[in-house]
Amino acid sequence: MTSSPFDLSGKRAVVTGAGRGLGQGVALGLAQAGADLVLVGRPDSQTATETLVRDLGRDVEVVELDLADRDAISTVGAHLAAREVDILVNNAGIIDRHDAVDVTEDSWDAVLDVNLSGLFFLTQHLGRPMVARGHGKVVSIASLLSFQGGVRVVSYTASKHGVAGITKALANEWGPRGVQVNAIAPGYMATDNTRPLRDDPDRARSILERIPAGRWGTSQDVAGAAVFLSSSAADYVNGHVLVVDGGWMAR
Ligand code: NAP
Repeated sequence: MTSSPFDLSGKRAVVTGAGRGLGQGVALGLAQAGADLVLVGRPDSQTATETLVRDLGRDVEVVELDLADRDAISTVGAHLAAREVDILVNNAGIIDRHDAVDVTEDSWDAVLDVNLSGLFFLTQHLGRPMVARGHGKVVSIASLLSFQGGVRVVSYTASKHGVAGITKALANEWGPRGVQVNAIAPGYMATDNTRPLRDDPDRARSILERIPAGRWGTSQDVAGAAVFLSSSAADYVNGHVLVVDGGWMAR
């Protein structure tokens, strides 16, 4: 029997920030599709996901990394690059909400360090051996704010436009070497990232009114797209930012 093109059996996938929210859903989705997991994130925050992945019968390893720490990215990147990593999902990300006139340098740097610089340098470390081997998949979690401006989140918007740019730039360089680099742009998903929006009744109502699906998204909604882009079913998809938003962008 031929295997499904979505089958990830025998693949090793690294997911950053897999302890909660979308990263947890993506890690579980990849594990359900057959992948073994390396959960990369801050100390102690991967424990729940580690147990859930193990319960699915997959191998799972936790590697501690604060993506704001450039030296740690080098150390962990070198460690992971020495292993055969087939799939990298850049999920970890932060948001800091302020009026643009009030954004401090510290706030700006914190968001850009994790969402953009950390993402790029970890991808560089893990992408190098993928390119040398001639195969691999990189999937980054972008945002609707890779396309739109957003409200009171200028640093986040800058970082997510950057993630879309990195995705396309790496696709151009690495596509000819057998590595596909894509991104997922989730819409409004019910995680800690969007809690302040959902806690504001007016904002929550106006957001929900624009979503044709009539509901906020879940981590499972993103997991399917991540499995697709990590699998051989997406071998001819490269440099794409796949919107998973219940139809928001169609309005
Ligand atoms: P979340 O629940 O706030 O999760 C954020 C994740 O990033 C956590 O696992 C967190 O780890 C990790 N993280 C943050 N800073 C880190 C650091 N310095 N080093 C390592 N890991 C770090 O938010 P989420 O909604 O699941 O967000 C996941 C991704 O989706 C982000 O890139 C976000 O921008 C993107 N996204 C979300 C939405 C949405 O509507 N929710 C929409 C578009 C895009 P800890 O648990 O250790 O803090």
